[in-house]
Formats: sequence, C-alpha cells, structure tokens
Amino acid sequence: MSEFPTCPICNSENTYFDGTLYICPDCGCEWNNDNSADNDQTPKDSNGAELADGDSVTVIKDLKVKGSSMVIKRGTKVKSIRLTDNPEEVDCKIDGSSIVLKTCFLKK
Ligand SMILES: [Zn+2]
Repeated sequence: MSEFPTCPICNSENTYFDGTLYICPDCGCEWNNDNSADNDQTPKDSNGAELADGDSVTVIKDLKVKGSSMVIKRGTKVKSIRLTDNPEEVDCKIDGSSIVLKTCFLKK
C-alpha cells in the first residue's frame, strides 16, 4: 500500500494519510486529496486574499512582460482578471494585450 500521493510542496514520497488529510513529514504540509474539487488550489494575492474571476487587482511591483519590452508599472490597476489552471497565475488584459501575471505580485 504505497498509493499515497507525493507531497505537492516538496515532492516527498514519505507521505501518509491520517484519516482526514494527507500529511508530509518532510516539510510538514497537510492537504486534502479530494480529486473531485481543487478547492485547495485557490489563487491568492500577495496578502493571502482569495482571487476570483472578474476581480480587480493592483500590481505591487514593476513587472517585465516576457517576450516584449513592455513593463507593467507598480500601481497599475488590472480589471477583470481570469483564473487559470495554475493557482499562481491569472490571465488579464492590459492595454489590449493578454498577459499572464503571477498572483504573488498582485494585491486586491
Ligand atoms: Zn512535503
């Protein structure tokens, strides 16, 4: 019975199930491996506030846009973000361009 999932944080295989949560003894994280819902993958901004489709956020750091010379200035307001499959990234439009932003550089 080594059917436990690897740790989502440190990829350790020493995980175990305590009846409610999976636990990783190596990094101490606990998670719920309910496959039907990815609720533990909620995107959060730099303050830990949950982000949702359509939220407006502010950029907290000058960000270079990959593959272009564009820089998104700190303080730029971004309207109507869209969540992606990656909880660390959101889609948005700035000046008509579709851009992916890291949630850790955003503030609601
Ligand atoms: Zn771990």
